[in-house]
Amino acid sequence: MSKSRLLIVEDERSLAEVLQYNLEKEGFEVMTAADGQDGVRKAQAHTPDLVVLDLMLPIIEGFEVCRILRSDAKTQNIRILMLTARSEEVDEIVGFNMGADDYVTKPFKIKPLVHRIKALLRRDASAEQARDVINAGGIEIDRINHSARADGQDLHLTPTEFRLLWTLARQPGRPFGRNELMDRCRGEDANALERTIDVHVRSLRQKLEQRADLIETVRGVGYRFRSEPMAGPLEGEATSA
Ligand code: CA
Repeated sequence: MSKSRLLIVEDERSLAEVLQYNLEKEGFEVMTAADGQDGVRKAQAHTPDLVVLDLMLPIIEGFEVCRILRSDAKTQNIRILMLTARSEEVDEIVGFNMGADDYVTKPFKIKPLVHRIKALLRRDASAEQARDVINAGGIEIDRINHSARADGQDLHLTPTEFRLLWTLARQPGRPFGRNELMDRCRGEDANALERTIDVHVRSLRQKLEQRADLIETVRGVGYRFRSEPMAGPLEGEATSA
């Protein structure tokens, strides 16, 4: 098995060095970037398995780095572990839902951080295997055939509706903002999404018929796929907006 590749985007040089040293000792291949712009560039050029991303960065902030990586098909599946200086920033990560997979508050100990990184990488590997077909809420979504079925009946989704459903159902419970959904559902044809996300959601819900409530509205944020039984750390987010 090849080594997992990590990219550390951290402007505090001593911290970046300590992280690199310890993570290399754990058997990871480690690259570093000292600002957000360089971080984006390296992530795009090398598509690492995981990015350890500091929030406060020169040139491009961590939130924006996150958004850029999530909006590009090539980098959108890279795991992102956010480093934050203050616990209040955690609320922002959850509230704005910039697409980080996990976060750690500074100061942190190396050992738990390594555990979190390994857990995220494992999750990625298992998601990779299950990625072609999703079964959730009574519907089967098949990415190879680009089809979605309920009770064996094809839902006849448009390409945009399909991408929308796939994106939401892949991470049940995780709220997606409208802009993020726009970026993800646009596909190769940048002009294909002249209607708003809300219009696509409405049409998708109509096709889902009695299962329409699988697509939940998250007030002040956007939409999410209904999760049962647990929504994870983002659960309280819908009411706090
Ligand atoms: Ca910083």
